[in-house]
Amino acid sequence: MKLSLEGVTRRFGAQLAVEHLDLNIAAGEVVTLLGPSGCGKSTTLRIAAGVERQDGGRVLVDGQVVSDSSRHDPPESRGVGLMFQEFALFPHLTAAQNVAFGLKNQDRAEKKRRAVEELERVGLAGRGDCYPHQLSGGEQQRVALARALAPKPSVMLMDEPFSSLDHRLRDQVRDEALGILKAAGAAVLLVTHDPDEALRMSDRIALMRAGRIVQIGAPYHVYNHPVDRKSAAFFSDLNIIHGMVRAQQTDTPFGRFLTPGLADGADVEIIIRPQHLKIDVDEAPTPCARNGAPARGVVERARFMGAYSLIEARMDYHGDILSATIPGAFLPPIGEPLWLSLRRDRCFVFPCAVQTQLEWPYLAPQPKQGDRLIGHASPARRPRDVRDSPANTSNVAAG
Ligand code: ATP
Repeated sequence: MKLSLEGVTRRFGAQLAVEHLDLNIAAGEVVTLLGPSGCGKSTTLRIAAGVERQDGGRVLVDGQVVSDSSRHDPPESRGVGLMFQEFALFPHLTAAQNVAFGLKNQDRAEKKRRAVEELERVGLAGRGDCYPHQLSGGEQQRVALARALAPKPSVMLMDEPFSSLDHRLRDQVRDEALGILKAAGAAVLLVTHDPDEALRMSDRIALMRAGRIVQIGAPYHVYNHPVDRKSAAFFSDLNIIHGMVRAQQTDTPFGRFLTPGLADGADVEIIIRPQHLKIDVDEAPTPCARNGAPARGVVERARFMGAYSLIEARMDYHGDILSATIPGAFLPPIGEPLWLSLRRDRCFVFPCAVQTQLEWPYLAPQPKQGDRLIGHASPARRPRDVRDSPANTSNVAAG
């Protein structure tokens, strides 16, 4: 592993900012710390960088301990590159001089040669003599990237490094930066609170809450197999259908769901993202194993969002409102009848009572033989740093 954090803990007075956090990042891998403000992302990154010292645990770079209870190497001797939101180029130095600044133990000519090389790598060939104020925001960001890359760090630590760029430029610069870092085989730890950025950039996303990693995995996995409602809500709006367990099943307007492991009478929430609800307007679709039974409603509100339209439907059952998306080419009128069907394999079922307990993991049991399985998503892997739970839920659906 290029970068390892083992049992890292950091307190600020009575506040536990990071709690017994374990994280390993391999060469060429991009891991994103994603979570709400104040959950401990930046503190974790600062501890990895060495600008903050942990109260417990240790940090290893390239398998070597760089910080533990008896040792604390400063950032400059850890072989890590740093890129922060405020990339702070020296205004009185040219782009090339800014890049050369971080290079140690080389003569002047070699530093200049390396600075030119790094600027070329980030697409700024011929701009080395420009001062920061003569460069655009995106170009300045690339100079900062070149400066961070110049010492050839084996680990790159980035804290919201692209957030000061406008939308289009951000996509371009971060894709370029990522390509360069991957090609260089660097291990990248990135901090963001932007779920789209995390999904787009990461090999793995570590979802943090209250100083702990509550879930870690590939973007597809974290998005499609959230450990709880809060994790699911981090990536999109949610539709929530309430139900009550009877004989290990829960009746919903979309058919019956298997909810094994939950006591009779338990209140559950069946959760579905708007983009996983299917809309039919002409006639009710035939119930099928994949999509269950359709539920009828009328369009209450329809908003054109460009690539898609967001439809809010008032459902016949209980008058609930559910949201669904359709391609932006369609915008049904208010009052139009419709039928919604849900992708059963994209539903999550959580007991209501545990939603306020941060450490409660979602442990979907493996389906038993004989269960009438219509569709199911594989169980979320248990986060490493959460306790065992006495109750399980499942997102397995039955007809
Ligand atoms: P944001 O997304 O808003 O930057 P974050 O997830 O990066 O938040 P941190 O900056 O790591 O969160 O802070 C975690 C907690 O530790 C917060 O409650 C914060 O107030 C607290 N904290 C961080 N640094 C200090 C400090 N130097 N002194 C006291 N408390 C601190």
